[in-house]
Amino acid sequence: MIKNYFRPKTIDELSELKLKTKGYLFSGGTDLFVKLRAGTIDTDTVIDTKYLNSRKIEITGNKLFIPINATYSELRMFIKQNNVNNMLENIVKTIGSPMIRNRGTPVGNISNASPAGDFVLASYLFNAQVIIEPTSRKLPVKNFIKGPGKIDLRENEFVYGIELEILNDYKFYFEKVGRRNAMIISIASLGLLLKEKDNKIKDIRIAFGSVAPYILRDENLEKSLIGETINEELFKHIAIEYQKLSSPITDVRATKEYRKSLVHNLVIKAYNNLFEKVVKE
Ligand SMILES: Cc1cc2nc3c(=O)[nH]c(=O)nc-3n(C[C@H](O)[C@H](O)[C@H](O)COP(=O)(O)OP(=O)(O)OC[C@H]3O[C@@H](n4cnc5c(N)ncnc54)[C@H](O)[C@@H]3O)c2cc1C
Repeated sequence: MIKNYFRPKTIDELSELKLKTKGYLFSGGTDLFVKLRAGTIDTDTVIDTKYLNSRKIEITGNKLFIPINATYSELRMFIKQNNVNNMLENIVKTIGSPMIRNRGTPVGNISNASPAGDFVLASYLFNAQVIIEPTSRKLPVKNFIKGPGKIDLRENEFVYGIELEILNDYKFYFEKVGRRNAMIISIASLGLLLKEKDNKIKDIRIAFGSVAPYILRDENLEKSLIGETINEELFKHIAIEYQKLSSPITDVRATKEYRKSLVHNLVIKAYNNLFEKVVKE
């Protein structure tokens, strides 16, 4: 049961409270309170971050900054108004329901560090840097997330924001496979960004959710694809390579064999969709 509730207003106040009380931070609470209710987190102290005086969502140089407490709904509005990283919309609109998007935050998603987290996947694709206070550390998201639910934070630290690269002229594909469309953790997901020139790959970023203990992205494989001609053979090769790299588990949602087949099929489906072939569901 929650006995202590705090509302810090400054970075130092928040940091000191976290260190002293060992309480859990909450922004939207859409992960935290589910876990408290399920008993997977046991604490009597929560620290509400929503009263912190923080920066707003903003563009700084070629980066999109998303601060602590910014909700998915606010991010969608910003993307639309500023016509920036529109590809993110394809991911954000699939998260939960309007109620969840009005409360839940990208920073909460990353701090929760689930391999099924949709914004975790987005942050891998956009080479996100995680900004940590009060130490002003900055870590690439792939180093910040250490494993399912494990993050690189010291006892006095918290996530202050995330910086995403701003990308232009990319083709984009995102698909999340689940038993229902909303309100459910995905069985597997794929996000793919591709920049082409003269039908050859100039840049490609591929990330999978829920098919390994972490978001699966292989930058060496991506580098080996640069300069290759875009065709079905190439995507069959990508599909087979990622199938080898994936290490899914069997759980109540799906078997590992099914997840492995999804890795392959999602890559082929992405190719067919991006390069305008008709795809039957
Ligand atoms: C019905 C429902 C549907 C959902 N659908 C989806 C979905 O489709 N896709 C998806 O990815 N997720 C989904 N979720 C999960 C959740 O909504 C998201 O992960 C959301 O982004 C969490 O953000 P939050 O602000 O609510 O986090 P919170 O619950 O406030 O925090 C999450 C965790 O991070 C910690 N934390 C919070 N802020 C910080 C910080 N600044 N620094 C360090 N640690 C911090 C908290 O202590 C907690 O452990 C769903 C949840 C529900 C209940």
